[in-house]
Order: sequence, then C-alpha cells, then structure tokens
Amino acid sequence: MQQSQLSALLFPHVHLKPQDIIDRYDRRKLQPEAMVTRFAPSPTGFLTIGGLYATFISERLAHQSGGVFYLRIEDTDKKREVEGSLERIMEALDYFGIRYDEGVTASGEEMGEYGPYRQSARAELYQVFIKDLVERDLAYPCFCDAVALQDIRNTQQSRNEMTGYYGKWAVHRGFTPEQVKEELAKGRPFVIRLKSPGSFDRIIRYTDLVKGELELPENGQDIVIMKSDGLPTYHFAHAVDDYLMGTTHVIRGDEWLSSVPIHMQLFDVLGWKRPEYGHLAPIMKMDGQSKRKFSKRKDPDAAVHFYQQQGYPKEAIAEYFMTLVNSSYEDWRQLHPDEPYTWFQVETGKMSVSGPLFDMAKLQDISKDIIAGLSAEEMLGQVTEWARRYDTGFYHRLVSDTEYAHRIVGIGKDPFKPRKDYARWSDVPNAVSYFFDEAFEADSEAFLEWLPVSVPLPIARQIVHSYSTLYNPGDEREAWFGKMKRVAEQYGFAQDAKTYKKQPGCFKGHVGDVAMVLRLAMTHRTQTPDLYDIMQVMGEDRVCRRLNLFANEDGNE
Ligand code: GLU
Repeated sequence: MQQSQLSALLFPHVHLKPQDIIDRYDRRKLQPEAMVTRFAPSPTGFLTIGGLYATFISERLAHQSGGVFYLRIEDTDKKREVEGSLERIMEALDYFGIRYDEGVTASGEEMGEYGPYRQSARAELYQVFIKDLVERDLAYPCFCDAVALQDIRNTQQSRNEMTGYYGKWAVHRGFTPEQVKEELAKGRPFVIRLKSPGSFDRIIRYTDLVKGELELPENGQDIVIMKSDGLPTYHFAHAVDDYLMGTTHVIRGDEWLSSVPIHMQLFDVLGWKRPEYGHLAPIMKMDGQSKRKFSKRKDPDAAVHFYQQQGYPKEAIAEYFMTLVNSSYEDWRQLHPDEPYTWFQVETGKMSVSGPLFDMAKLQDISKDIIAGLSAEEMLGQVTEWARRYDTGFYHRLVSDTEYAHRIVGIGKDPFKPRKDYARWSDVPNAVSYFFDEAFEADSEAFLEWLPVSVPLPIARQIVHSYSTLYNPGDEREAWFGKMKRVAEQYGFAQDAKTYKKQPGCFKGHVGDVAMVLRLAMTHRTQTPDLYDIMQVMGEDRVCRRLNLFANEDGNE
C-alpha cells in the first residue's frame, strides 16, 4: 500500500488538492510596503489589556501602511470555548474603536474576500492540506490515547529525558501503511502529527520585529496538527490561514515566542513564505514598590472590560497606548497637539523590548485632557452611550431631558481653561447627581455638618431665605454676585475676604461663607464647579424650589 492510498483511507471525503484551495484565494494586490495584519482571538476567555495593546499595534501597522487589518476567530478548541467570550471581545473592539476591514462582524456576518474568518467553518479546507502532507509522508496518524501518552511521559520523566512525542518516543511515526490500515480497521481514533524534520540540537536564527535577532532551538516534536475530532490544532490552522489570508506581519504577546520554531517549520513544510513576527513583552503594573505582570485571574484591571466599565474614552486609551508604543510619540505630540494620533508612524523596531509599565495615573491625566477637549455635544454622546451599557439609572436621567443633560455637561467647557475633573465616564454620574431632583432629594442631612462654623443652621436658613427674595434668574454674573454681597452685609459678613482679614473682629465671616451656604443649599456639596453656572443650568424653578426647601425646612417662612 502506498502513501496516497493511506491518505485516501484517512480522508475518504477529501477530494480537493491544495492548489484548488490556494486558487480560491487571490494574492492581495497591495503596495509593497502595505502590511496585512490580524487579530486572531480564541473565544476562550476575556480580552486582556495586553491583548488589546497588541491588537491596537496591529491595526496601526496595517492602516498606516495602506494595508489590511482583519479579524479571524480561532475557535478550533471547542473544549476550551467560553460562552459569550466572542461577543465580549467584539464589544471591546467596538468600544475601543478598533476598526477592521475584514472578518466576522458583530451581527455574526462576514465581510471580506478571504473568509470564512471563523476557523470552525474551515475544517474541510485544512483537511485538504493535512491529507496532502500525509500523502507526501510529512505527516502521519497517531493512535496513542491519553493513557499511552501519559505512560510515555512518565518514562521520560523517570529517565530525565525531554518529554513529548519525538524521535524514538514517536511510536507511530514509523508505522507502515499496512499497520495503519489495521488500526483503522479496529476503529481506533487517531490524530494526525507532523513528521517533524527538525532537531532540537539545531538553532534557528530569526529577526523578530520587536525583539531583534533571536536564536531559538528548532522544533523536533511531532506536534499534533489535527485532533481526533477532525479539527486542526491552532498551530496548523493559523499557518494555513495566515498564508491564505495573506498576512504579512504578526504582532502578538511573547507567550507565543516559544511556538515560533513550530510555526516556521509549518510554513517551511507547507512550502510557503513565512510572515514576519513581532513579539511584545507583557505590559507590567506597579504593585507597591515593584513591577510585575498583570495577573489574568487576580487583577480586575487586567481585563479590558474594566476600562469599558470605568468608561475611559477610546481616545484616551489610544493616546495612552501610543505613548507606550514608541517613546518618541510624546515629543511628536508636543509638536502636533491637534493632529490625530494616526498621523504618527508607529515603528516596530523602536518598541521597547521589555514590557512597558501601565501607569494608571498617566492614563487618567490623558483621559482628563481628552474629556476636557470634547464639546458638550460629543461628551453627552459618549457618556450617554457609556451609561446605556453600564449605568442604566443614570442613562434614564440623561435621556429623560437631553437638553438639560447637555447644559450640565457643558458646564466649565471654557476654551481657555476647561474643567478637567472627569477622568472617565463613571466619574460623571456622581459628579452631577445633584442636578437631578430625585437624587438630590434622596440625600441625607449629612451635608448640614459642612456649614461654615461662622453660620449656625438657623442663620443659614435665614440667609437663604433673604437671598431667595433677591434672586433673579436673568441676572448677569456680576449682579448675581452683588446680591450675595448684599445678603452678606445684611447678616454681618464682610463683602470680601480681604476686608474680613483686615478686621476679623468686626465681622462674623465673609461673603465666601454665604456662598458656601448657598452652594450647600443648591447642591449639598462643598465643592462644585462655578455656582453661578450651576444655577443658570438648573433654571429658575429648580433654584427657587431648592432655596425654599432649605429656607423652610424648620417651617419658618
Ligand atoms: N488564537 C491565538 C490566541 O488566542 C492567536 C495567537 C497568534 O496571534 O498567533 O492568542
């Protein structure tokens, strides 16, 4: 019996040849410098901040070079699949504005000419290549079950030898076609292994896009390329797909570095040009005084979902990532404060070889600047979209009166000295809660403790009452403040801090104390943006209601 008969026996349903498949995929017609990159998640968990970072870089490299960035779902490991994981990954890409040109879309459809982009839909296609490898005696069926493999492993460990399926341990590598036929006749399940042409003693030299010149031992293991369920392993599927889909550059975490010898070997055996690889060291975080890797299990901020929930605007994450990608970015940004970050050319050779430190404080600063730079319109759009997903109560408040919401977020949008106290959307609901009557009225009386010492509560109530008789919503800022001064004077407070300081004995306090009383009556807070702006936004009815509410709490009109 010959190899071709053997492969027909193993794959009776596969009739196509590799060239038939290859012919279905046109070579991409792009400029020589254009890069084709991909994000190839397995739906087996959540997207980490490091994963998003690698994806962000891949997107940049493709789009800045006029190339293509696509999304491929690597879902051949059905056992490890986690329900809902793909949806969450897609949602994250959408949230962070990572735009891909081809792949599976959020609605589950596909876009692009190089699909299917879901590996589970490509099972038969991989088998064409696997069958061909068997036919060329470059791959073979292995009938070892889990027990047999464990036995091999135990023996290897007891003899202090490298574990795995290779050399003399690769018991089915030398099976003749007749032996294989016998096993098949017994109905034994099998996997297909690569007949590795490599040897552990040999070294591969290659230039990593990020890490530079590297030396790695060649792969000598007869790795599994097709599992007993007929689906390929990740290693094999990714090689076939990266070739057919025309990937030129692969950027990924350096946990894949040790797989590079396998990947290169697969490309060589299949006779295809390898893509270039760039491996990123993991992003680090500070833990007390020391740096460490993020822990997928223990650190909530390892998951991108954390940043979505907290509501960091996508522009802030992008801007922050850019500072991590190339250290020259910050200088560029200083020279080009208003250009989109996409105008900066990312260079793989200038990325830091060690893992960059994720500095939350810096992200927050960047985010504050970004939010400060948004118009009220943009800000309302983004915070509403965030609230729709992550804070329904707040969402309903915003949409119940969008015009009011627009005025609220517009406070402090001074083009010269914009307010910078929001670092993320989740800061907003609490910061503005007092604008909404329901939330305001639900406050406890605790705020009364913050009245200035110079103003006992009964006086505070009287002050507010007196002010309410003068209040006129049409007042300009100066007139508005003038009235506050009048009330101050009426109750024995100095009209400004300076006067008070000169003769503290002559006054109970100064106008600032009166302003504080009004601020508390209006917002229940000691720190707020400008009180005049707040009262303008709240409008006459609400202001009067609140003044009266405070003034009359004890029933004294
Ligand atoms: N599916 C692999 C993962 O889950 C992709 C690795 C690669 O980019 O080659 O990360």
